[in-house]
Amino acid sequence: MLIVGLTGGIGSGKSTVGSIFTGLGAVVVDSDQIAREIVERGSEGFNSVVAEFGDGVLKDGEINRSALGEIVFSDPSKLAKLEAITHPLIRKAFSQVVEKSSKDSIIINQIPLLFESKHQYNFDLVIAVSATESVRVERLLARGLSPAQIQARIAAQASDDQRKSIADYVIENSGDLSVLTQEVERVWHLLVSANKTK
Ligand code: ADP
Repeated sequence: MLIVGLTGGIGSGKSTVGSIFTGLGAVVVDSDQIAREIVERGSEGFNSVVAEFGDGVLKDGEINRSALGEIVFSDPSKLAKLEAITHPLIRKAFSQVVEKSSKDSIIINQIPLLFESKHQYNFDLVIAVSATESVRVERLLARGLSPAQIQARIAAQASDDQRKSIADYVIENSGDLSVLTQEVERVWHLLVSANKTK
């Protein structure tokens, strides 16, 4: 079994790369999706978050992520409290995926902020998806984000160079989808060999 971290800035094409890896036979986990699932209404995470932060973080009975974000991102001690609740649940959900996967699987964990939180993970290998800023902006405009939202999100994340500094493999994604597919296949072969020799 090989456990791989997959990261990239917003609009770099992480999710697209993740789907190509799925097609090639990887077990791909989306950490953002897990983070949403572990605080779904009625779950252990939901109850702990409401007990810690109060009913003010609820909207229509669900946790309002932007309200919670406003509280924790302006106060590091509150962020630490939230992470003390969510991180163990996220780790547990990921371990469950690992446990139910076959022993020769290649498991890829898609984590946007892997560089920013690098000390919390233990991967066999890390892959960074990279694209020029102008290409990323173009993709995000097409997705309906405003120029101001795009600049704020890119500025809040680590740079491509920082992500590359922790990566074993870099997938360049400034070209079209056929070039990307070839890039992902190239890296897939490297992962398959690494898994065999592990
Ligand atoms: P991320 O998950 O890193 O934010 P996505 O995989 O969602 O990025 O890609 C952002 C957008 O760009 C999506 O709409 C996706 O379909 C598109 N996209 C990604 N890679 C390419 C590519 N090589 N050619 C054309 N469109 C792409």
